[in-house]
Amino acid sequence: MATQVGARDMGRLSDVFLEEISRMPGGDKIMACQQCGTCSGSCPTAYAMDYTPRQIIGWLRAGELEKVLNSNTMWMCASCYSCTVRCPAGIKVTDAMYELKRLAIKYGFTPRGVTGNTLATVFQKNVDKYGRSPEMELLARYYLSTNPFGMLKMAGLGLKLFRNKRISLAPEKIRGRDEIQKMLQYVREKGEW
Ligand code: SF4
Ligand code: SF4
Repeated sequence: MATQVGARDMGRLSDVFLEEISRMPGGDKIMACQQCGTCSGSCPTAYAMDYTPRQIIGWLRAGELEKVLNSNTMWMCASCYSCTVRCPAGIKVTDAMYELKRLAIKYGFTPRGVTGNTLATVFQKNVDKYGRSPEMELLARYYLSTNPFGMLKMAGLGLKLFRNKRISLAPEKIRGRDEIQKMLQYVREKGEW
């Protein structure tokens, strides 16, 4: 992790994370987890996760935040909502994954070898600027920040997409961008971002 904190601070932070997740609509249900594993069994990306969704919910409740933040699980979540619709306890596992990502970025925790936080940050900056995230700029900024040589490998595919008019070089702004920016500003001022 990029940010180093002592055991006592990690304990406090663990309380903060659990409290913030509990404040989400329906977030209080997290304490009703039966550890049945339905979420993990439904998850299409569980095979690539350090810990399964069931384990993440268990670690969170047990105050083992370090394990949660050191894992790649939340960054591997594809937001498919299978876990959420199948959870017998009505726990919004997908939303909890989003909240974990948001808090990890907010508090500066970056698991080694994980670049999902960079992608999320670049995406958010693009939405701020254009009201949407142009694919070309998203990929260019992401690769330049994480693996510039990786961009060369993708050049052929990029060219093909460009020729077929699937992506454009010039980023487009949406209509009503000012309204989007006002909403984002409001969310930031409320401290929810
Ligand atoms: S499906 Fe729901 S109750 Fe079962 S382990 Fe996952 S979060 Fe807990
Ligand atoms: S929403 Fe995320 S954690 Fe839940 S099943 Fe889909 S990929 Fe797995």
